[in-house]
Amino acid sequence: MRLIAANWKMHKTVSETQDYIKRFLKFVEHPESREILLCPPFTSLYVAGQLLEGSGVKLGAQNCHYEKQGAFTGEVSIPMLKELGCEYVIVGHSERRHIFGESDELINKKVVACLEEGIRPILCVGEKLEDREAGMTFKVVEAQVRLALSGVEEHTDSIDIAYEPVWAIGTGVPATPEDAVAVHRFIKEVLKDINPKARGKTRILYGGSVKPHNAPEFMKHSEIEGLLVGGASLDPEAFAQIVYSF
Ligand code: PEP
Repeated sequence: MRLIAANWKMHKTVSETQDYIKRFLKFVEHPESREILLCPPFTSLYVAGQLLEGSGVKLGAQNCHYEKQGAFTGEVSIPMLKELGCEYVIVGHSERRHIFGESDELINKKVVACLEEGIRPILCVGEKLEDREAGMTFKVVEAQVRLALSGVEEHTDSIDIAYEPVWAIGTGVPATPEDAVAVHRFIKEVLKDINPKARGKTRILYGGSVKPHNAPEFMKHSEIEGLLVGGASLDPEAFAQIVYSF
C-alpha cells in the first residue's frame, strides 16, 4: 500500500495540532486504501495520538535517539515514541544531516535501533545540487543507502526509504517525476543487491516540493510508492488533496 507522510518539521503548537487534526479528519475517507501518516513535532505527539485513535491515520516522529534511555539531554528515545503511539520514525532527514551534522554512522545507529525496537524507519536519502551537477547522484544515494543499512541488510523489508533531493526540499523546485523514477528504480536495484531475499516490502517515497498540483504527476508512476511532504502538509486541506491525488 502506498504511504503518504506529512513532515511538519518545527511547526504547530499543541493547540494548532488539535485544530489541524480535527480539520484533517473531515477529509479522511477509506483510510484502508492508502497509508496516511502524520509526523508532528515531539511536543504534539501525545495529543495527536489521542485525536488520531481509531481514525486509521498513523502517527510518526521526525527523529529519535538510538539508545533506549540515558544521559542524553534533549533527546527522545524510541520506547518513549512507541508509548505515544508512533509506528514510524523519519531518520536521516536532510535537515538533520546538513543543519545538525548527522553522519551516515549516526543514521545507521538510529536505523538499527528502530529495527531492534520494532518501529518502522523512513530513511531519507538524497543528493545535494553540487552532487547532481557533478553527475554523482547515483553514487551519493547508493552510499547513503548502503551505510544506513549496514548490519541490518537482512531486514530491508522493515524499512521505507524517502528519496529527497536536497535541492528540491522546501525550494518549490521538485525533481521531475522522470528523474525521481530513475533514482527510485536505482534504489530498488541497490536493495536487491543488499538483500537478495527481500520480499519487496520497502517502499520508495519521493519528497521535495510536493504540492497538490504536482502530486498526481508523481503518483501516476508505479515506482513512486508514496510521498513525504513538508511545507504543503501544514495545511490540512492541501495535505488531504495530496493524500487523495491518486
Ligand atoms: C521534507 O521536509 O521532507 C520535504 C520534502 O519538504 P517540502 O515538501 O517542503 O519540500
